[in-house]
Amino acid sequence: PRKFIVGGNWKCNGDRPSINALVQALNTGESAIGSGVEVVVAPPMLYGDYARGLLRPDFGVAFQNCWTGGNGAFTGEVSANMIKDAGFDWVILGHSERRSLPEIMETDATVATKTAYALKAGLKVILCIGETLDARQSGKTDEVNARQLAAVAEKVSDWSNIVIAYEPVWAIGTGVVATPEQAQETHAQIRKWLAENLSPQVAQQMRIMYGGSANAANADSLAKQPDVDGFLVGGASLKPEFLKIAESWK
Ligand code: 13P
Repeated sequence: PRKFIVGGNWKCNGDRPSINALVQALNTGESAIGSGVEVVVAPPMLYGDYARGLLRPDFGVAFQNCWTGGNGAFTGEVSANMIKDAGFDWVILGHSERRSLPEIMETDATVATKTAYALKAGLKVILCIGETLDARQSGKTDEVNARQLAAVAEKVSDWSNIVIAYEPVWAIGTGVVATPEQAQETHAQIRKWLAENLSPQVAQQMRIMYGGSANAANADSLAKQPDVDGFLVGGASLKPEFLKIAESWK
């Protein structure tokens, strides 16, 4: 069985007072969470250490990005080696905001290079993929996901430290969540791609999280889908509600 995994992507939000308050809520919430779910939060990079120092030890901490390779003359970047050295285990890569914001525009190849390097440096990777509204409406959802995965498969052979976050771009921050049927159908297609292009074993073991307007009200019905193995949560991860989503595996 695949262990349910719920991530909170805080994106570029917060300051010390608000992080204090959020962490306090996560630490003292009624929720017992329990051992059936792995919970990881991704503070803005600068606050990673700060949040780790305050946060309950059973929650992991992820970074939201890293450089394509090791240390060197790369002004303004943070390497996977540094993240690992600082005691962190996870990095989120390929988020659609980093793929599509005109100021960033990470390509499939860049995401793949970062993924390969981060794994080599000993990090676990939450690899984000997903289609735009245009792509879904023109029936290209599976094609886009396959293309983004294939780019990574060119550079990575061992997928055991990767979890996939399927995040349809049209659902991110819009309040338009994928229906349980849409999520299940696309997750199943992703798993089929893994089986056909990597191996049945990788497909069977891969955890596929859903992301995009997930909240406490819709998490339960999504979590019931056989191929939905968790969530990557944006907006709702900045609220105590996040604990309810983390408990949706029950
Ligand atoms: P929202 O939950 O705010 O839609 O964001 C999802 C997301 O992008 C998580 O990485």
